[in-house]
Amino acid sequence: MPNYEGIKNILGPLRVYENEPLSRHTYFKIGGPARLFFEAKSLDDLKLAAATAKENKIPFVILGGGANVLISDKGFNGLVIKNRADGIKLVGLKGTIDKTGTGIKNALVWAASGTPMNQLARFTIDQGLEGLEFLLSVPGTVGGGIKINAHFEVEKGDFLGNHLVSALLLNPKTGEVKNVDSTYFEFSYDHSKIQESGEIVLEAVFRLDRSEDPKDIWQKAMDNVKRRNQEQPVGVACSGCIFRNIEHDDAVRLSTPNLTTSTGYIIDSLGLKGTKVGGAEVSRHHANFILNTGGATASDVIELINLIKAKAKETYGLDLKEEIFLIGDFK
Ligand SMILES: Cc1cc2nc3c(=O)[nH]c(=O)nc-3n(C[C@H](O)[C@H](O)[C@H](O)COP(=O)(O)OP(=O)(O)OC[C@H]3O[C@@H](n4cnc5c(N)ncnc54)[C@H](O)[C@@H]3O)c2cc1C
Repeated sequence: MPNYEGIKNILGPLRVYENEPLSRHTYFKIGGPARLFFEAKSLDDLKLAAATAKENKIPFVILGGGANVLISDKGFNGLVIKNRADGIKLVGLKGTIDKTGTGIKNALVWAASGTPMNQLARFTIDQGLEGLEFLLSVPGTVGGGIKINAHFEVEKGDFLGNHLVSALLLNPKTGEVKNVDSTYFEFSYDHSKIQESGEIVLEAVFRLDRSEDPKDIWQKAMDNVKRRNQEQPVGVACSGCIFRNIEHDDAVRLSTPNLTTSTGYIIDSLGLKGTKVGGAEVSRHHANFILNTGGATASDVIELINLIKAKAKETYGLDLKEEIFLIGDFK
């Protein structure tokens, strides 16, 4: 039996919750209890919690905003560390600096990994820096965003990873902390190397160009928000896109309209919009979203995912791949 009391004493007995329902901490509003739950309010908290779990040989997982996960109905039998370690600052400027800042060419922005991406977007737009305005209103944290290489208009290169300069990573197996540059992550669409290595992002530095016309950036960001609100379901519990988009070669093979790689298009064309399992429903608005219409369980969502995958395989020979990450026991 793990030494739960010992872990609580190290992290602060009043700060560690037992059997905390994880449905309270996910955008899906789904998830059973965490055996132990701790909110890390600083990077020191985050490191201490990870080290304590490792020393006491209990499994642990980092939860950012909970915007890209499906947590098992059985919950997580270990320590869930909710990352609330936030903070943003300018750490470097390049160019000639005058009072108006007009000579600045680009800037380096540091962010703690628990910083909401929306906050990072606001900060950079306010500084007249362009590149991350597509993150305005995107839920989740910088750490979760780096893991999936958060994006918007892929064809325009709106990827978080495209602006990353370096990051501080914690290896959960060895406890080693190392600074790596962006090439380490081998970023591509919906991919970064930490998906395989399991490393934890502690902090990150981004490089952003000074905009020629800073007032335009807010407008561009607001236009993106408007578009997202038109294209995606709003105000319903969900976890964003469930599946990654299909490969370009598959779009060519299937002659999709304008060679779209949108999995939303694929699911729609299978006639699955509105399909329900328990409380989980394929959105009628955007078919790559599964909604929790009330009381959906993780098992409902998995059943719906499997149904979509089977139909996509049978009809189009496609192997759809989840974008969301599963946490807990799904056996
Ligand atoms: C309504 C809605 C709209 C969305 N729209 C978009 C969109 O336009 N573009 C887009 O890219 N995404 C979108 N998403 C998905 C989501 O916002 C992103 O995937 C986001 O990056 C998730 O971050 P998070 O902190 O919530 O991660 P979580 O869901 O908390 O975690 C996801 C994974 O990352 C791991 N993780 C979390 N923090 C760290 C860390 N510090 N270090 C290492 N691993 C970590 C977790 O263990 C888990 O495996 C949307 C989601 C919703 C609900």
